[in-house]
Amino acid sequence: MSQASQEIFQKIIAFCKSKGFVFPSSEIYGGMSAIYDYGHYGTLLKNNIRDSWWRSMTQLRDDVYGLDSSIFMHPSTWVASGHVGGFNDPQVDCKDCKARFRADHLLREFDIEADKAPLADINKWLDELKDAKKLKCLNCGSRNLTAAKIFSLMVKSNIGSPTDELKEENVVYLRPETCGGIYLEYKNTIDSLHPRIPFGVAQVGKAFRNEIVARQFIFRTREFEQMEMQYFIHESQTETAFEMWRNERWQWYLDNGVPAEKIKWYKHEKLAHYASNAYDVTYDFQSLGWDEIEGIHARGNWDLSQHTKHSGVDLSYLDQRSNEKYIPHIVETSAGLNRMVLMFIDLAYTEEKVGEDMRVVLKFPRHLAPIKVAVFPLLKNKEELVGKAKAVYDLLKVRYMTEFDDNGNIGKRYRRQDEIGTPLCVTVDFDTLQDNAVTVRDRDTMLQERVSIDDLKSYVERKIYG
Ligand code: ATP
Repeated sequence: MSQASQEIFQKIIAFCKSKGFVFPSSEIYGGMSAIYDYGHYGTLLKNNIRDSWWRSMTQLRDDVYGLDSSIFMHPSTWVASGHVGGFNDPQVDCKDCKARFRADHLLREFDIEADKAPLADINKWLDELKDAKKLKCLNCGSRNLTAAKIFSLMVKSNIGSPTDELKEENVVYLRPETCGGIYLEYKNTIDSLHPRIPFGVAQVGKAFRNEIVARQFIFRTREFEQMEMQYFIHESQTETAFEMWRNERWQWYLDNGVPAEKIKWYKHEKLAHYASNAYDVTYDFQSLGWDEIEGIHARGNWDLSQHTKHSGVDLSYLDQRSNEKYIPHIVETSAGLNRMVLMFIDLAYTEEKVGEDMRVVLKFPRHLAPIKVAVFPLLKNKEELVGKAKAVYDLLKVRYMTEFDDNGNIGKRYRRQDEIGTPLCVTVDFDTLQDNAVTVRDRDTMLQERVSIDDLKSYVERKIYG
């Protein structure tokens, strides 16, 4: 990461903490690496992004159903999926500064694509780079690095009676991805909702991975949220479904205000043995550069075949029209909600000069902004202004996340709302008491308009949701 990128990254991390978006977890006990908590504004932003995704998946489409499955699942789930045996990353340690790296990330610096490569190949490439004196610790520059070794990403827990705690059969895993629940509820979905293939199941939820590298703020954490959709198809529909979902997902980013030049596709050349196609949506972070936000994968019929095999329950589908019985193939879209929070903050974070001053403003797409509108009385010690402003606040808060603020002068209140990305600020002044109109100031243009209180709700609706 360049010096400038490092600076902007540190600035965004500090900003997120000081403004109530994202806090380091357990800070009073010294913190926990790669675990974060979301404050008031961060939670609102995350919920709005999730709602936009959920709406596009389940409300605007007729063929995708919702699900909320448990984090704990039968341990065989992860044996069947291959995670227990093979959900690993290759790890390299610096013997001097003790920094830890993913070997495939170190190799990426030399344009070697080592994702999913065998450990022997990874160590061969690392040795070649070491011999050529090219390989260095990314943290301290030392050449004293260990060989790569395998590190399981699965997070183990246990349930059952405390006296049974240590027994291997009580070990459960915190799910490393949410889609496992979708596969396990595939049969209940078919039996209860009777959908016809092609159809999808979407869910949002927590996932857990014991990530090796933990220095990327909320980009890569050990506890995170995924928004995943599994689309069940006949094998012959793979290509069409894959292209359709690529288009749908691309359009979602554009609809949510991400400019086309800030995202691009990354096509995976090395695929899992069961997969036939895989693309990532990557985003150009001010700080981290281009990196993955979402994956779209054609997974063949691996998932349902494996669960059929391991559970002994036939998960095949009978097409009533053609009488064909088959195990459905799957196209999945898998996005990280926390990475999207970082993406939207990275995209929105702007420093600009206003007269002699600088202002920090988060230019969120309006529908994603944590607070939609703020209401101020011009003066805090004039009862008639405060009373009227409270009435305007009560009028708006039933529909929008609204804040009331009477602290400091109006300029300071504007700056505070700019910093959390509030699109509209409404001021009640002395004229309001005569003409029943308020001044509405726009976050981006900073222009002010006089709007009658009678029209205020429809004005705000138009400005926020177009
Ligand atoms: P990476 O290569 O960055 O480790 P991945 O290819 O393993 O990610 P997937 O398993 O495809 O990721 O997960 C789908 C999405 O879940 C990713 O695109 C990302 O947005 C999100 N995600 C995965 N791991 C994490 C994590 N540790 N922290 C936050 N989000 C994550």
